[in-house]
This record gives sequence, C-alpha cells and structure tokens, in this order.
Amino acid sequence: MTATGTTGDLPLAPEARPHLHLAETATARNYHPLPVVLTSGQGSWVTDVGGRRYLDCLAGYSALNFGHGHPRLLAAAREQLERLTLTSRAFHNDRLGPFCRDLAELAGMDLVLPMNTGAEAVETALKVARKWGYEVKGVPADRANIIVADGNFHGRTTTIVSFSSDPVARDGFGPFTPGFRSVPYGDADALAAAVDEHTVAVLLEPIQGEAGVVIPPQGYLPAVRELCSRENVLFVADEIQSGLGRTGTTFACDAEGVTPDLYILGKALGGGIVPLSAVVGRREILGVIRPGNHGSTFGGNPLAAAVGHAVVELLRTGDYQARAARLGEQHRKRLEGLIGHGIRAVRSRGLWSGIDIDPQLMSGREACERLLARGILAKDTHGSTIRLAPPLVISADELDWMAGQLAEVLAAQRA
Ligand SMILES: *Cc1c(COP(=O)(O)O)cnc(C)c1O
Repeated sequence: MTATGTTGDLPLAPEARPHLHLAETATARNYHPLPVVLTSGQGSWVTDVGGRRYLDCLAGYSALNFGHGHPRLLAAAREQLERLTLTSRAFHNDRLGPFCRDLAELAGMDLVLPMNTGAEAVETALKVARKWGYEVKGVPADRANIIVADGNFHGRTTTIVSFSSDPVARDGFGPFTPGFRSVPYGDADALAAAVDEHTVAVLLEPIQGEAGVVIPPQGYLPAVRELCSRENVLFVADEIQSGLGRTGTTFACDAEGVTPDLYILGKALGGGIVPLSAVVGRREILGVIRPGNHGSTFGGNPLAAAVGHAVVELLRTGDYQARAARLGEQHRKRLEGLIGHGIRAVRSRGLWSGIDIDPQLMSGREACERLLARGILAKDTHGSTIRLAPPLVISADELDWMAGQLAEVLAAQRA
C-alpha cells in the first residue's frame, strides 16, 4: 500500500496521478480518501478525471440527498448568485425570512437559527440548552450538564470531541470542555439514571450514522421523550445525517412519532451546493438567544437561504421521503439476503444502510476499494462496516445493480 491507499490492483486513471501526488505533498492528511479523483457529477453518478463513471453510494455523507446538480437546486443557486450572495446579519436580506418560515413549518416548530456547518449547529444547540437551563429551568450558574450517548458523532470542535468516545477523534486535543455525561446508546434506564437536577439536555442522534447506522431499539426514542418531558430536560435530536428524507420520513424521529425540543439540521439542507445548517425549535426555547449571544458571518447568507429554501420545497411534497421508504424496503431485503454470504449484519432504515462485512473475509476498506474498481463509491467506518447512503434520486435498477456488485465482491473473495 502506498500512502494514499492504492492497493495496486485498482485501475487508477493516469490523469489521477498528479492529484494523488498533491494529496500527499500539499494537503493535510486529515482524511484517508479512496484513490479516485472526481471531476463532475449528475444525479446519482459521478465521473473521474479519466472519464470513468461511478454510482455515488455515499452522497457526501447524506449532504447530497437530492443527487448531484439537481435542476431545481441549481436554478435556485444560479439565480441567487447573480443577485446577492452575502449581506452578513448586520442587515436583513430578502431570502432568509421565507427560508426560516418554511423550514420551521416543515419541522412543526417556530424559529430557525441558521449556521453553516453541522458542528456549528451542534455548538449552537449546546449553547441554547445551557442558556435555557440557567434562564428558564433555574440551574445554578455554570452547573449545567448535558447527557450524550456512547458512540456518538456530532462533529469536530474541541467541545464536541470532549464528549466523543472515539479515541481517534479525541486523543491529543484536550483539555476538554466539562459538563457532559455519556451513557450507553439505546438504554433508556441508563439515561434516566444519569439525569439530575442540573441536567439541561439530552443530545442524541435518533440513528447513529458515523457509528455504522446504529438503530436504537423500538421504544427508545419515545422513552427519551417521556423522560425529558417529565424531568424538564430538552431533547435535542441531531438529525444532521438522519434527517431530510434519508430514512423514509422527513426526520428519523418521525418513525417513532417523537418530536424533540430542538432539531439540529445540516448536510442535505445545503442541497450539496453550500454549507448550511440550522437549529430549529419552539419560541420559548430558541428565544433565549438574544442579539450578541451567538452568530456567524456567513450564517443565514442569502445564497445559502435560497438553496435551503429550494430544499425545503423539495421536501414539502413528501415524494422524496416516500421514495426513500419504498426503495429502501426493497434494498434492505436484497442486502439481508447476503447475510451469511460474507455479511454478518445489515442495519437499514430508508435509503441508509450499515453493512458489517465478515472481518475474516476482508476489511470494510478492502470492500470499498473493490466496489470502487467496479464503479461504486461507498465508505467504510469502524473497520468492518460499510455505509451506503445513495442519493434519494437513485433508481430501483441502480440499487439492484449495486447490491449485485456487492454480492460479487463477496463471492469472489469467498471462492
Ligand atoms: C456530519 C455530522 C455532523 C457534523 O457536521 P459537519 O458539517 O461535518 O460539521 C454532526 N452530527 C452528525 C450526526 C453528522 O452526521
């Protein structure tokens, strides 16, 4: 293996070589990308610098739920690019209000606080929860605690990695921000035991994405909701990866009939075009933030608001959610058929799957490299898991083809 991860049996386009060289000499190595250099994309497909096409089954970790270059999203972006792109929040702009109104309505909430990246929106929610705790719940100054779950992924800031259980994400970055308690994911009793009178929030992914699409036991989210309501604690749902149609409903919480106190959104909210994130909640909670408490130069800029508004329009019809549910159900059955044939387990909801490859057969990385050689982009997580999150615009035939290629990769290794 070379430093870029080329295994040697991968057909690497000659045009890719200078880019892989630059990745080694000019780019900080905070990622370990698969050896493919992409240059264009359309719908569910991307093309590399050598002209080879790949089915994108990662979709920018769900930032591309509507595929590459969705015509409605591109049109919204183009139109806004020519008109006005940035004002700062020192002034109003004519795109932010309509976007916030419609996103709040989609979420059944009152207010939207726009930011840019997911991690920023998580930070925003943590600040809101603490301030709500001091001002509304009456927690003594600087005593608030927030409960999170083991295996979480909420981003990369120093505060967020303070409550990560992943040593690779955390080690070397201390001293850490205090005020967090981590409990096993999916265990409502452990959560209840961790709550005390200074607890202001429970922060959870309704399905843990980075952990490998880990779905909590049925009844867990309703139990968390009930506990939070009883104990006067905010239920903060990080739907940055699980939300906006991915799981077959607008929010993953919907599948259990649960409404959190705050939604954290990102990734697909920017339509794969711009970074756009938001915290969405009721007035009595988000209202604790007053001028000067929080902000961002780019947060709520008119270009992002225009794209985000177009994303909300796409979601308002419910078509993408229904599509994810319908195609996801067929795809799940197909993947479950591979259990015992090189796959140990499949966890799937909508068009989002975590597949545990038998580690005796190959690593997740090796499986992804072999899929790459067959024209499929996917990414491993935690050693032997591959995560599949294709754009929701993918066709049933494309999904079938992908599952067939995966079956062949496994069969070739077992032979
Ligand atoms: C990706 C992700 C984040 C962080 O988003 P960034 O835009 O990368 O900062 C936070 N939470 C979850 C659940 C995510 O999947």
